[in-house]
Order: sequence, then C-alpha cells, then structure tokens
Amino acid sequence: MYRFRIVAVLTIICAVVLYGMPGLSRSQPGRGDRAIVIDAGHGGSDLGVRIADKTYEKDLNLRLALALQKELATSGYRRVLLTRSADKDVSVKERSELIRKTNPALVISLHANAGFSGKARGYELYFPGFKTGKEDRNDPAAIIGDMTKNKHLNDSVRVAQHIQKQLAEIFPKENRGLREAPLPLLEGINVPAVIIEIGFITNKENRKKLDDEKSRQGIAQAIARGIREGI
Ligand SMILES: [Zn+2]
Repeated sequence: MYRFRIVAVLTIICAVVLYGMPGLSRSQPGRGDRAIVIDAGHGGSDLGVRIADKTYEKDLNLRLALALQKELATSGYRRVLLTRSADKDVSVKERSELIRKTNPALVISLHANAGFSGKARGYELYFPGFKTGKEDRNDPAAIIGDMTKNKHLNDSVRVAQHIQKQLAEIFPKENRGLREAPLPLLEGINVPAVIIEIGFITNKENRKKLDDEKSRQGIAQAIARGIREGI
C-alpha cells in the first residue's frame, strides 16, 4: 500500500522502519545499458498492510518483485536491481541511495492495498510529479533541469499507461486509475518511476491472484510487457 487516503474504503498508511541494508540482485545480461530498479515495499519488521490469516503485504510485494525481476531478465534487460531481495528491513534512505547510485531508466515500486470491507478491489498506479517551473528562467542549467524533469514525467506516465493496459487483462474492469503522488524514495532524485498498488489483499479474489504462483507470474509478465512497451 502506497499512501494514505479515503476512497470508498479507508486504506492504511504504509510504515517504513529505518534499519537494515538494501538487498541487491542482478539479472543476466541482455537489453539496455541502464538499470531498472524494482522496489518491493516494506520488509522485515515493517509488515505493510496485513490481514487476519497472516498474509502480509511485505511478502506479496517481495514475491511479485522477484517474479518481475525474472520476467524482465528473460526479456533481455541487462540490469534489474531490487531494493530488497529478502524479508528484511530496508530504510527509505537506503532505497534512495541505491536508486541515486544506479541512476536507473525506471523505478517500479510495488505495493498492495487494503480496505475495511472485502469489497474494494483492483489496481492503482501513481507517478511522481517532478515539480518544475520554480527555477530561474535565465539560468540555462535550470532550464535544462526542467526539460529533464518533464521528460521523466512523460516517461513515467507513458510506462504507467502501458502497464495499466496490460494489467487490464489480468484484472478485468478493476482499473482504479493513474494519479500523481509524491514518492519518498525519490526525494531529490530525478528518474522515471511508477508506483503500483497491485490489488487489495482484503479482497478474496485479488488476494488469491497475488498468492497463487501461476497468476502472480501472469501479473509479473503483464507488468514486464508494459515496461517493454513504455521505455
Ligand atoms: Zn505498501
């Protein structure tokens, strides 16, 4: 789950705990020189959203992140890095450091949602806003900075739209929209990014899709197709 808000249901804010070191995994060589960073939300003592039968968001995020890494590697992406590759605490700062050092072509942050009732279902996507226009218009460096931000904003939205389209095949009529939202991981970092709230673990059907290995693979393939089409 990515951010606190009230829609038809009250969703629960993600907590992040400031311990641990980032896990970093690499895929086989292939497509593209620049990395893709997959961020599995939460981990370790930060459970994310949870439900009574001990299904934790952190576990679903990690399993999907590993499946997506595999799919992207199969698609020929040379460097696919994870902010964590195991169930452990990784702080926002550590995740940011990995992204800053890597300067990836894209960051995909994976979360799952929760609602009070079991009715809420579906996937939501977010992209960072990259504030622009405040800089000195006579400063060439500031103008170029603005252009880069605009490009990354366009890239983020384009990839998100392709992912949305692909996920519609897995979750028919469950598209809950694409919105702008700040991404703490990217504070002060300017790279294309998409946050995916992949489904509601409080909804039986959604949870089943995220829990089941085969349908999770289908979700990972759909996201990978969206990334391939989008960047
Ligand atoms: Zn979350």
